[in-house]
Amino acid sequence: MAATPPFATDNDHLHAAWQLFDAAVTRLIGPRHDIVVDDLGNRVVTTAPSMYEEMRAELAGRQGTSFGGVARSMPACWIDGVDWFRLVDGTVAIWAPGGTGETPERLEYLLEWAWQPADYLWLRTAAEDIEGWVQEAEQLIAGRNRFEVTAPCPACGASEATHVDSAGEHVRSAALQVSMAGVSCLACGHEWGLQGVMAFAKSLGCTPLDGIDPGNAYDVR
Ligand SMILES: [Zn+2]
Repeated sequence: MAATPPFATDNDHLHAAWQLFDAAVTRLIGPRHDIVVDDLGNRVVTTAPSMYEEMRAELAGRQGTSFGGVARSMPACWIDGVDWFRLVDGTVAIWAPGGTGETPERLEYLLEWAWQPADYLWLRTAAEDIEGWVQEAEQLIAGRNRFEVTAPCPACGASEATHVDSAGEHVRSAALQVSMAGVSCLACGHEWGLQGVMAFAKSLGCTPLDGIDPGNAYDVR
């Protein structure tokens, strides 16, 4: 995010590693830009909050903190969101024990640190870690419309599944997970694509909404 590294260096390894680190930090906590075409056909640059801020807003919405801070039960994918924050915030706090504030402030602090040539490997590894967090966040946000169904799986009969989170604890959730990609069962791994969702709904005994001809509804793609 800084225009120039906070060191005058003739060390190419350090310089290159610092730039990787800077780019990764920007992908996580920097504002995001997109180019959209408006109604008049003009290209307009829009700015969105950082990936980290979007994750925080998403998590706050999932936890229902606006209702007195009491965590509601969350679908399995947002247990993953909680894990994501545990990993990211925990790791950055270890990286920057001298830093203050939250993860974005600590990362800014690290960018300004007086890095030495011997640190280049650390910076490169940290950049890889951050890139991994960004990719995971993208997947979590892409799956935000996922929800779970508390019904037995038509394939294996399980209605609950357990998975092991990043802290090594067993977490129970509904077996059936619905997303924009279709329905999947966490217990047996069976997947129904979007085309199969209407038939799947019928097999659970769901009745079609008023006005939808079931005969046509099953053709929905
Ligand atoms: Zn199943």
